[in-house]
Amino acid sequence: MTRTKKHIIVVGAGISGLTAAIELSSNPELEVTVIDKNGEIGGRARSFEWNGFHYDMGPSWYWMPEIFERFFKEHGEDLSKYFELLRLDPSYRVFFKQDRFDKPDDFEEALLKFESLQKGSSEFIRRFIRDAEFKYNAGMNTYVRTPADSMVEYFNFEVLSSFFKMDMFKSIDKEIRKGIQDEKLLQLLLFPILFLGAKPTETPALYSLMNYADLVLGTHYPKGGMIQLMNAFYQLALKKGVRFELNTELKRILAKDNNVYAIQTSKSELPCDGLIATGDYQHIDTHCLPQQYKQYDEQYWNSRKLAPSCLLFYLAIDKKLQGLLHHNLFFDTDFDAHSQSIYNLHTYPEQALFYVCVPSITDPSVAPMGKENVFILVPLSVEMSVDEAQERRLFEQIIHRIEAKTNQSIQEHILFKRSYNKDHFIEDYYSYKGNAYGLSNVISQTAFLKPKIKHKKLKNMFFAGQLSHPGPGLPPSLISGQLAAQLCKQKC
Ligand SMILES: Cc1cc2nc3c(=O)[nH]c(=O)nc-3n(C[C@H](O)[C@H](O)[C@H](O)COP(=O)(O)OP(=O)(O)OC[C@H]3O[C@@H](n4cnc5c(N)ncnc54)[C@H](O)[C@@H]3O)c2cc1C
Repeated sequence: MTRTKKHIIVVGAGISGLTAAIELSSNPELEVTVIDKNGEIGGRARSFEWNGFHYDMGPSWYWMPEIFERFFKEHGEDLSKYFELLRLDPSYRVFFKQDRFDKPDDFEEALLKFESLQKGSSEFIRRFIRDAEFKYNAGMNTYVRTPADSMVEYFNFEVLSSFFKMDMFKSIDKEIRKGIQDEKLLQLLLFPILFLGAKPTETPALYSLMNYADLVLGTHYPKGGMIQLMNAFYQLALKKGVRFELNTELKRILAKDNNVYAIQTSKSELPCDGLIATGDYQHIDTHCLPQQYKQYDEQYWNSRKLAPSCLLFYLAIDKKLQGLLHHNLFFDTDFDAHSQSIYNLHTYPEQALFYVCVPSITDPSVAPMGKENVFILVPLSVEMSVDEAQERRLFEQIIHRIEAKTNQSIQEHILFKRSYNKDHFIEDYYSYKGNAYGLSNVISQTAFLKPKIKHKKLKNMFFAGQLSHPGPGLPPSLISGQLAAQLCKQKC
């Protein structure tokens, strides 16, 4: 059989793979197949169901909605037709040692509440957010939308003229502490940085763009759960003619003369004219490429600074819970001690900081009537082995702390509990060291210093996803899939 169209294979049906496939399919001369080792689409943003409870397995914070909407618009679609997007108000609740704080959605209202924590803070925060808005616009429209293959890409007027305002070399911690002394307010402003997988003292002030996303752009929720966003990408891909082969694992990449010509999967050999790999970069580079085409050695990977892994619990509760919102952050113990355990000591924290998501408070469709769907996340070091006794201790401690803070019994109302730890990340995604969110966003791992999108030798192979540029999170991973596909369209 002679093929009239060029065949491009995308490995991985997470957000970056789905985005790459849709972007590729805008070229009618390309035929696109997505394979994934798992049986469902979504990657880390998959979902599962238990007796009428619908659980999002990974992401729960829908931030930067404009990035998703823009992508759909570029492909002639209106994302709002796929699901109803709610804006949460309050955005989230933070439990401190003695009291709690609900962050209002409205920026001005939030500033007023911040004043109650530190008098005079609103003036500083207003200025800080003005700079953050600049960084968000320049960052999300310019910096992250170049393939970051080399420093030279950044030598243009637009980028250079904004470079010094981007604060790449100052830490966000230092920047915020210039105007904020109140401990609670510091934690509120530093919390979005936790998504970036490094200590605030090591995270460039550029990432105040996350504060802009939090305080100005708002926290959203797609009715039906985050999986609705993934389903929207999947539906769009199907509409564009993308083929899916699930339960199909990439085993070997077959290449000669600096070109990939086929892949060996767990089921068959698939010929191709181009390849975009969005599974975990380290796994594909180290285990699927022929020796002469491996790009990074063990020493390189071992020296990367990884974002934390996490311990997750999915619970079904047989009653409605009081005192919690959709998003809840438990900062009622020592912030620095937990941070030390993740980044320095590589131990289970004595008193963990944790996050509790109860989407059934906003959305009755994710749990049966009168019941609650609960997701708990504890960030942990990637550099330690799983210890089930420690996991049980943490779980008991967490339930006890939620009970104490919200004045209700929970333990005897748990109908179902599923735990998910770093070993599951390795088993399900071949995640390097069990990382949950890829590489830390420290300056030495930013832009062209990240593992490259474009393979250094193979002319028709590209990487995308959270371990490549621009980094972890749904919006950046989307952008990386789009960048890889744009390069692939040029080169294949
Ligand atoms: C617990 C958790 C909470 C998070 N919370 C948020 C949040 O609130 N907001 C947010 O924006 N982001 C969040 N993130 C980050 C976000 O989910 C990820 O950055 C993003 O989903 C990564 O997408 P990806 O396409 O790069 O990778 P993945 O989603 O991991 O997709 C890669 C796919 O490749 C497949 N694969 C791997 N190897 C192979 C192989 N050899 N053959 C075939 N298939 C293979 C995997 O099965 C997987 O489906 C969270 C992540 C986690 C884990």
